[in-house]
Formats: sequence, C-alpha cells, structure tokens
Amino acid sequence: MQQAAVEADDKAPALPEADDLTSRLRRAGDLLRSHEPGLADRYDWLEAMINHVPDYIYAKDLDGRFLFANAAVVSNNGLDSVQELIGLTDFDLHPSKAAEEIAAIERRVMDSGEPDLGVEELSLKGNRWLMMSRVPLKDKTGKVMGVVGASRDISARKRAELLMKAQARLLQTLARGANLSPFLKEVADLLEEVIQGAAAAILLHRRGGEALHLAAASPTTRAASVLPSDIVGIPALWRCFAIPSGEGEQHGLLAIHGSLGQDASLSEFLVGVAQTIGIAIDRHHDAERIAFLAEHDALTGLPNRTLLDRKLAGILELAIESASEVAVVFLDLDNFKLVNDSLGHAVGDTLLQVVANRISEAVGQGGLVSRVGGDEFIIALQQTDEDFLPRLTRIRNAIGQPLTLAGMAMQLTCSMGMARFLAHGKTAAELFVNADMAMYCVKESGRNGIRTFEPAMAENARLKLGRTEELRRAVELDEFVLHFQPQKDMQTGEVIGLEALVRWNHPTDGLLFPADFIPLAEESGLIVPIGDAVLRKACQQAEEWQAMGLPAVTIGVNMSARQFQESGMTRQVAAALAESGLEPRWLEIEVTESLLMRDVHGAVAKMNELNDLGVSLAIDDFGTGYSNLSTLKSFPLSRLKIDRSFITDIPGDADDMAITSAIISLARTLELDVIAEGVETEEQAHFLSVAGCFAVQGYLFSRPVPAGQIPLLMQGRATKVD
Ligand code: C2E
Ligand code: CA
Ligand code: CA
Repeated sequence: MQQAAVEADDKAPALPEADDLTSRLRRAGDLLRSHEPGLADRYDWLEAMINHVPDYIYAKDLDGRFLFANAAVVSNNGLDSVQELIGLTDFDLHPSKAAEEIAAIERRVMDSGEPDLGVEELSLKGNRWLMMSRVPLKDKTGKVMGVVGASRDISARKRAELLMKAQARLLQTLARGANLSPFLKEVADLLEEVIQGAAAAILLHRRGGEALHLAAASPTTRAASVLPSDIVGIPALWRCFAIPSGEGEQHGLLAIHGSLGQDASLSEFLVGVAQTIGIAIDRHHDAERIAFLAEHDALTGLPNRTLLDRKLAGILELAIESASEVAVVFLDLDNFKLVNDSLGHAVGDTLLQVVANRISEAVGQGGLVSRVGGDEFIIALQQTDEDFLPRLTRIRNAIGQPLTLAGMAMQLTCSMGMARFLAHGKTAAELFVNADMAMYCVKESGRNGIRTFEPAMAENARLKLGRTEELRRAVELDEFVLHFQPQKDMQTGEVIGLEALVRWNHPTDGLLFPADFIPLAEESGLIVPIGDAVLRKACQQAEEWQAMGLPAVTIGVNMSARQFQESGMTRQVAAALAESGLEPRWLEIEVTESLLMRDVHGAVAKMNELNDLGVSLAIDDFGTGYSNLSTLKSFPLSRLKIDRSFITDIPGDADDMAITSAIISLARTLELDVIAEGVETEEQAHFLSVAGCFAVQGYLFSRPVPAGQIPLLMQGRATKVD
C-alpha cells in the first residue's frame, strides 16, 4: 500500500530531489495549484489525509535524514512541526541500538531496491510495538533516492496476544492438574508481569465463611504487604473481579491494584482469569473430595482400610524410632446381622454410624479408628500414659450404652481382639492376622469380650484348619453315624418318638459328639452335606424298623440354619423320603427358634413347603430365643420342645418352673404338642406331668443309643438304657 501511494501512479508529478523534498513538494504544489487547481487540491488532500492517519509515515534520504513525516511521527517524537524534523536522523533523535538496527534495515532496502514489508518491531523509544513496512523511494528513472517508511502501532494487538498467551499458559497449568496454591501464586505473578505497574492479589472465602483471606499475592503486593491476611469486604483502591464457583456461588475475589485504563480487552482478560481460578478451585475441591472418598468409608466417614494401611505404616515407623508400643485391635459387633436382618438395612446403617461415633469419641488421643467392612472396625492405638486395656474397655462401654433405634430399645456388645507391636507381630500384616485371631476367640467363647493375642490361638487356629480338612474327608468317607434318643409318653409309658443325633466316628479320636464338630461344620458349610446324610440315614433307619414290625414312631431330625436356608432343602427332604420309602408323617424336622425369627418371611415359606410334603415341624430349644407370639401363631408347627436349660434346675428354681408351666400352657393355647428335653430326675418328670406335659426326653428314660439297641427298647424288653 505504501508502495502504491508513493510510486505506482505514473500520472503523479515527478518526485523532487531528496534534500528538500517537502519544501519542493509544497512549492510544486503551490505552482501546480495556480495552474491546475484540481491537482493542487489533490496534494492538499493527500497531505491532510497522511496527517490524519494514526499510522506513522515518513520518507528519508539516502543518508537517513528525514525528508518528510506525517503528524503522527512528528508528535511521537515530541516535536511541534514537521519542519523541526526534516534533516534530522534517528540518531539525532534517539541515539540507540534500535536506531542502528533501523538504519541497517533502511540501508538494505535502499541498496537492494526491494521493499521490506510487515515487520513487527519495537518502537525507537521501546514503548510500543510497530508493524513496519519500508519501500525504496525512487525517482522517475527508477534510481533509489531514499526510503519511505510506514508503520502502524500494533501495541494493542500485541497486548491482546500477550494476554491470550498468558491465559493459555494458565489453562495449561490448570489442565496439568497443578496444586492449587502454586497455581494461584503463578496467576498472581503472571498478572503483575502482563499488566504494567499493577499488583495482584487473590482473596478467597474460607469454607462456609464470609471473611476473605489472602490466598496468593504478586511480588509487589507481597513486598508492600498491603493486604492483611484476613480481610472483610472488598479492599479500597483495588479493582475486583468475582471468582465464580461451579455451583454459581463465589469463591472470592481477584483484586488488581493499579490503573487498568479503559482497556476493555484487559477487563475481559481479567474476568477470564477469575473464571479460570474458579475452575481451579472447583477442581481442587473435587480432587479433595475424591481423595477423601478414596480413603474413607462413605457411611461413617471413618478412614477405610487404605488409609489405615498407610497411616499404620507411619505409626509403626514412629514406634520403632521412639521404642514405644502400638496395639492393633479388631472390633466386631455381636449379632449385628440379627439387627440388620430383622430391622432392615437402613436401621443397620444408622446403628453403624452411631457405633462409629461412639468409638471415635471414646478412643481419645493416640487412637486411629477405621471401618473395614460390615460391622468390623480396626483400631490402632499408640502408646499413651494409659494402658491399652482400659482404653479398650472405655470403647466397649461406650458401645454398650443403651440406645433406641426404630422404636426398639437395644444394647450392643462387641468382641475385640488385640495384638501388640512387636510382641505379637513385626509387620502390620502379622498384627492384623493375630488381632483377628484374638477377636475370633472372643466370638467363639460366647462373644462380648476383649482378648489379647496368645501364640496358643495361632496353634488352635492351625488345629482347626486341620480339623476342617478331616471333616471334609469324613463327609466323603461317610464317617457319621446316628444315635437315637427315645421320647416317651409318661401316661402310657410308650416310646412315641426317636430323635436322631449325629456322631462322628473319627478314625483316631473315636466317637465324637456334635459339640466337637457341628460348630466347625456350620462355619465351613460342611453342615449341609452332613445334614443331608443324617436326613437320609434317619429316614432309611426309620423305614427299616417299621419293616421289621416295630411300632411306627416319629423320627426327629435336627436341621441347622445353614441347611434350612439352602435353596434345595425341601427337595433333599423329599428325596430322602422317596429313597427310603418312609411316609412323610413319621418325619419331624427340628429347627431352632432363633433360626425362624431371623428371617420370618423366608422361614414361613420353607415351613409351608415342608408342611406340604406332609412332614412335621418342631421348634427345638424353645424358650431360649425371642419368639414373637403372634408370629409363632402363623407358623405351621406341630411341636414345641422345651429347652433343657429350663428343666435342669427343677425343682430348685421357681422361675424355671414358672417358665416351663407358661410354655406348656402356651402350647395348649396354640394347639401344639409339647415335649420336655433333658429330663434327668423323677422330680422333674413329676413336675412336668402335673403341669400337663406328658411327653419327655432325657437320661431318666434313656440316653441316645446306637440304632442296634432301639428294637430292644421299643419292644419294652428294656425300659432303661444307660
Ligand atoms: P439337641 O437338639 O438339643 O439335642 C439334645 C441334646 O441333649 C443331645 O446332645 C442329647 O444327648 C442331650 N440330652 C438328651 N437328654 C439329656 C439329659 O437328660 N441330660 C443332658 N445333660 N443332656 C441330654 P448331643 O447328642 O450331644 O447333641 C447336641 C446338639 O447337637 C443337639 O442338641 C443338636 O443341636 C445338635 N445335633 C445333634 N445331631 C445333629 C444333626 O444331625 N444335625 C444338626 N444340625 N445338629 C445336630
Ligand atoms: Ca433337637
Ligand atoms: Ca434341644
């Protein structure tokens, strides 16, 4: 364009000699105006136009002396008229390195005769960015006589670019997931860097509060310490930009001190920066939340296993350094499953929250509580002035405080096992295993207690593992036999039933009783195949006796919870009956009260299935559970078996007698048969018959005996077998 304006028009008058271009121009103009008014106007118009444009336009001769310059150049050099400029060089105006560089470029343009277009450079004074174009100034013959320069101030564009770059840099840092406080510092520093003479500060609200605090400050702000660390309201003399949060609220303010002028792009930039800060803070909060969730239990807010593992490692290291003790404690609520099953999971969850709070409050200093699953907690105790056991007792007492949930008053107990570092384990893993084992021992010995690990526990656990293997083999080899205990009607003296009781014919230990292996069988799930074998043997045996011509009597078979809840249970019973050919009415399944109450709906369905088969149902150990009478009424039962514990202390214990009488009349009311177990003395038998219970089972009449002895017993040839 510059080229076009200067050279391209062939009809333009010949350009004058370089030394006094402007005056000649003027003179030529005057001359022309007098002869050719139109042409003179054109020069005036051109001059006026050139003076009007904000761009810098000038011409220099071969020696770099100004021949001409427009008003923009004149005023930029602090001069009043172009006359003052003509004849001067850049060196006269601003002797500098930049002046040398410009002279070199202009020299090149003049020497080569080639234009140099669109080059960005800093102004001579160094305060602006210019887009320069230089073209050789030629006479009509094409001889170079100087240089014409035109430049445009691109400072604003350059600044916009700088701001964009700055913004991009922040976004990159943000995308890299930088930590919040270095990020905020970077923002503040950057702002001071890109906005001349400004100081920056980032003020954030404390979580959930109105007050602002200084989160980051640029160097000037820091040096001047112009801001207190806690600030209420917007500081005076600062321009503030709200830092928005993703939830439409405000994290705080981006404050800039210094003149921002009327530069709209700068304000826009700052609004953008404030938004970027907002995103960074949102992300930081999200990351904090995610980090929290990764290491905490969502239900109780307690540390989870991951955090426990991490923290315990540190605690153990510290303990080694300070030669102090640490205890790792496994805590498990007793009968939590019962609460969960009977009152529902929502109540169970609330209960766990209550317990978590109680443990946290009671654990005190130097204690770390974590929930590791269901109703299991692990507590790490660091050494304090107080011993470990009293601290654990405090936790246990806290858990044991009465509470009411879903309208039910209850009192919880728990089982705790403790392992000490280093006595019971050199690593966290060893401590976990041993504390767990100690806790398990508490469970096994009736729950509700605290025990410290002992090496014998590990030995027992090993033995148990071996026993479980033996039991598995016993199932395969069918090492189980049944003994039968007669049930008598005291009025007629006749045997009215036989309870099948399992024994394990152990290859080396001899005949083992249920107490020695049923708990293990239940725990390992082996009770299911064992129970199935018992069922088949019992039916087989009963059918054999009937075939022998013995009077037909009921065969009682015990069924454990695990087996009763098996989905194929009814099918197994039906199969045992079918295989043996025993009529269903001679089979009586004995289940415990607590089993039925655990899941009433499921139990009723199962009982109905058995009832449909024609099999009878008895409640075993009646009186020890917590039967709800109305529920009991809805069960398809045939008999209640009064638990042995109520009979044992008769006639000494008045309470037991009262309970026994009550159970007998309850059975009458519900139109159920009733039988008393564990009858050992004449007094007990007498009391029962007076109370109206004539069916009895116990050592008084017979112990459980091998099948071979039953025919004798039934034929009345022997009335008592010890
Ligand atoms: P239970 O069902 O209450 O069986 C009665 C238990 O009381 C038997 O013990 C029996 O020997 C004992 N007993 C009977 N009369 C008297 C008495 O006058 N005095 C005393 N002190 N005890 C008496 P056993 O055979 O050791 O069985 C113990 C428990 O093992 C049974 O209690 C039952 O719960 C369970 N059990 C036995 N056989 C099986 C089975 O095949 N399957 C399942 N799931 N459990 C079984
Ligand atoms: Ca029984
Ligand atoms: Ca019983």
